[in-house]
Amino acid sequence: MKVITKEHVTHILSRDNKPCEAIKSGELAVFETYDCFTNRFIPEGTDYYNTPKMPGNPATGPLYIEGALPGDMLKIDILDIETGPTGIVMLGPNSGNEREFFEKRVIKRVPVKDGFAWYGNRIAIPVRPMIGVIGVAPEGEGVSTITPLDHGGNMDCTQIRKGVSLYLPVFAEGALLSMGDFHAVMGEGEIEDCGLEIEGKATIRATAVKDFYVPWPLIDTGDKWITIASKETVDLAYQAAARQMYTFLTEKAGMKEEDAAMLMTMTGDLIICQTVNPTMTVRMEFPKRILWEYNKKA
Ligand code: CA
Ligand code: CA
Repeated sequence: MKVITKEHVTHILSRDNKPCEAIKSGELAVFETYDCFTNRFIPEGTDYYNTPKMPGNPATGPLYIEGALPGDMLKIDILDIETGPTGIVMLGPNSGNEREFFEKRVIKRVPVKDGFAWYGNRIAIPVRPMIGVIGVAPEGEGVSTITPLDHGGNMDCTQIRKGVSLYLPVFAEGALLSMGDFHAVMGEGEIEDCGLEIEGKATIRATAVKDFYVPWPLIDTGDKWITIASKETVDLAYQAAARQMYTFLTEKAGMKEEDAAMLMTMTGDLIICQTVNPTMTVRMEFPKRILWEYNKKA
């Protein structure tokens, strides 16, 4: 299996990035990743002020997927996520909803062991490992790994986790998949700018899908479809996430317009992924069971 080591980092997702590895469509690959601080706070005694500054959100990659062409979807099956033993959470004057209360940047190292993060070595938090940054080369100019848009990127969605399939639209030949910014656990909304930031390793299968296309990210969790939108404001993002689900249900899943809207308002969940990046991310979740029932009846 191809392994992409974490030294192959980029801070921009771009069609100009040179692939560091290639696989055939349908093959597996492993991505090793730094945490979003390039592991700079993992050693005991380090803090924001006594370590060299580094750009945030290094992403490992890109991986070239043979056969993936613009107009395809890239299906990324997330088969496994492993995380390191030390997570980092940071607060600071320029980040998060409570920013005015913190004049200095403060970090905390949180040990992760046997499925729990141990805050203050006292409070046990069950981990829910997720991939914060995952994206393909965008259409047009490169985009920072800080900013999520329709190519993916820094979506900080808790549902990008082991066992799901993420679909991203392909804009460049080979798709050019990169990822990083894993979290051992993160609250919905990521309200103070960090999850529990952690290095890791993800095993994925990447497949070019030819007979299905939507121009934004979509997740299949097995029991739900999830549309993801990243826009300038939370209002714009929620409207787009819901519209994407409506479009998916009516144009791809065979639902009549009024049935889609009625079933969305009764059974769809709108959830804020993150509020701290240059664009805000909201997702809409819709139960697949409703679709099965609907199509059975039709
Ligand atoms: Ca992030
Ligand atoms: Ca992060």
